[in-house]
Amino acid sequence: MDKRLVVNKLYILPAGHGVLREFFFNTNLGADNEQMVHSPLSIYLLDTSDGLILVDSGFAEDFLNNPNYYNGTPMEGLLYLYMKEEHRIPALLGSVGYKPEDVKLVISTHFHSDHSGGHKYFLETQTPVIVQKNELTILDDETYSPAECRLKDLNYQVIDGDYQLCDNIQLIYTPGHSPGHQSLLINTKNSGYILLCVDAALTEGIFKQNVPYFAADPEQATLSLNRLKAIAAEYNPLVIFGHDEQQAKALKVYPEFY
Ligand SMILES: [Zn+2]
Repeated sequence: MDKRLVVNKLYILPAGHGVLREFFFNTNLGADNEQMVHSPLSIYLLDTSDGLILVDSGFAEDFLNNPNYYNGTPMEGLLYLYMKEEHRIPALLGSVGYKPEDVKLVISTHFHSDHSGGHKYFLETQTPVIVQKNELTILDDETYSPAECRLKDLNYQVIDGDYQLCDNIQLIYTPGHSPGHQSLLINTKNSGYILLCVDAALTEGIFKQNVPYFAADPEQATLSLNRLKAIAAEYNPLVIFGHDEQQAKALKVYPEFY
């Protein structure tokens, strides 16, 4: 990518939602607490002077009109994912007037079922997919996410740690939620700095009040959260959380942009 590319527009594209035990977002509640919480999901599309960059690709299509996917598994009753036709990658990009082959680069934050389900649309095109080295350690782990989220033959551009993609886009290594999770700091032309925490800070409560949440590695997750807080203090960005219901209602979504 052009090192001096300008991020003309950052679009938030809502991509479905989940309903899950609030315990996952606040382990203080205790594992037997049955309260459920609404969890919105979005992907992000960057319209830049050097082409389109997609951040994540949404739900695996195993969930298409199939919220009971987890019935009969240990997750039964704990998590329901709601995906409609309009949340498939061709439909999401189509809503903005684009096709998968128009995307120049995909940035994959991690391979969970709600973040890499549409990666398969970038297989044939061999679009570069930037991912952290440690996230590739789960490619063979069938308990991690549906198979379509863990494709081996994508054109992965593997990075290991923080990475300055260009002057205005910085990838921040934030493991803990998953082995190789990454977040993004983006300097947009119209709205200044935006920090996409993704799942390193699922909610505002986790980010601001240190509410403990369910993570693959809680110690690493805390270190990553502290890094994001330091970055927020330094750059004063708009901080966007991964799955915060209240914040999602207030954010601008397509056709508006940042
Ligand atoms: Zn997520």
